[in-house]
Amino acid sequence: MGCTQTPKATKTQEKTLTVSTFISDSAYNFIKKQVEFGARVPNSKAHDDCAVYLSGELKRFGAKVIEQKVNLNAFDATILKSVNIIGSFNPKSESRILLFSHWDSRPWADNDPLQKNRKKPVLAANDGASGVGVLLEMARLMQKNSPSIGVDILFCDSEDYGQPESASDAGNEDSWCLGTQYWAKSPHVPGYSARFGILLDMVGGKQATFYREQASEYYAGSVVDKVWSQAKNLGFGQYFVDQKGGAITDDHIYVNKILGIPSIDIIQYDPKSGTGFATYWHTTHDTMENVDKNTLNAVGTTLMHVIYNEK
Ligand SMILES: [Zn+2]
Repeated sequence: MGCTQTPKATKTQEKTLTVSTFISDSAYNFIKKQVEFGARVPNSKAHDDCAVYLSGELKRFGAKVIEQKVNLNAFDATILKSVNIIGSFNPKSESRILLFSHWDSRPWADNDPLQKNRKKPVLAANDGASGVGVLLEMARLMQKNSPSIGVDILFCDSEDYGQPESASDAGNEDSWCLGTQYWAKSPHVPGYSARFGILLDMVGGKQATFYREQASEYYAGSVVDKVWSQAKNLGFGQYFVDQKGGAITDDHIYVNKILGIPSIDIIQYDPKSGTGFATYWHTTHDTMENVDKNTLNAVGTTLMHVIYNEK
């Protein structure tokens, strides 16, 4: 008797919530592919080739894709030919979630220990490609098993062309996140809104720790609670540390301030390092060898559960 009842119970459970398994090997390969183009610095061939690749992948996974092409003015008067790429799942749904990550590479490794490397570009395996890789894997899974709400994936451009700290007039925070600043003022859909937003930035480092970033806490504390408690329930508490982190100027700031969408930043934070970030941050060592599949799995699995729990 017991045997006939058990499968029924399992079936009902599966119906309430089916979350596809996040494949970290697949996410890793999406990161590797981006890095193989070279540094994705705006106005370079690697950048343009990677834009074609990213929108092609989103289309392949069934998203409705919009490429927002725009010339943005950098702090040094360079005109950055930028592309924000948006892939929408369930585009007609009124209830939406925004997932975003910058896809450009920093043009200068200005934090490199060696002076001779500081004018070289950053390969940005972690600082750029990792968040995009996790989101591409989620897109691949969403095609197979659609979530009940709408999901927009935004690959924002020209995040990392900010003014170097060595500059005499440094401290121009608004010189960063140019693609997102533009998108927040002119979203791909007029009047765009979402229930909440989650930004991924540097989510692939070995034994990375993600603390409760202060602006996320200020603008979207309940979203931080939702993500950090989900991670803890899944056994990823050593990655998602339930403690206050730094306050970081990142793409989520502009989505909060301009669009009023409560948005958080999942960003690697190491309270013991001088910069707060990994030692290879903005150096020539931000390469594939620092990308760890266990970390990708922790972030991707957590986000899959967050998305599929939204009704
Ligand atoms: Zn950066």
